[in-house]
Amino acid sequence: MIDCIFCKIISKEMKSDIIYEDERIAVFKDINPQAPVHHLIVPKKHISSLSECTEEDKGIIGELFLKAKELAEKEPNLAGGYRVIINNGKDAGQAVFHLHLHLLGGRRMPWPPS
Ligand code: 5GP
Ligand code: ZN
Repeated sequence: MIDCIFCKIISKEMKSDIIYEDERIAVFKDINPQAPVHHLIVPKKHISSLSECTEEDKGIIGELFLKAKELAEKEPNLAGGYRVIINNGKDAGQAVFHLHLHLLGGRRMPWPPS
């Protein structure tokens, strides 16, 4: 049994603001938002990081990105642009080891990120 916060959110064992879900994906608001819009888009299947993805995960990776685009298009706040981020591994700032995309926007996003 994996002790994973996002698996607990997906199974509703832990509370979160779920924005969207289907059989394979859940989207919820980040508990510590870094921008006016900060959603987390996660596969329901536990995959710990992008590094752990295999050929088998091609489909779900595509679905995660397309869901980010679809949700962004519905957010008036993101009309001027948005950022989609995957932090992979601890040096990149990954804190939760269940694959997730950050959908961020609603403010100017500096580049390069610090
Ligand atoms: P990472 O640093 O792994 O790329 O991002 C993890 C994100 O998950 C962080 O932005 C953090 O604020 C968010 N997070 C951590 N714990 C929870 C939680 O219990 N609920 C929600 N909604 N977000 C969380
Ligand atoms: Zn998990």
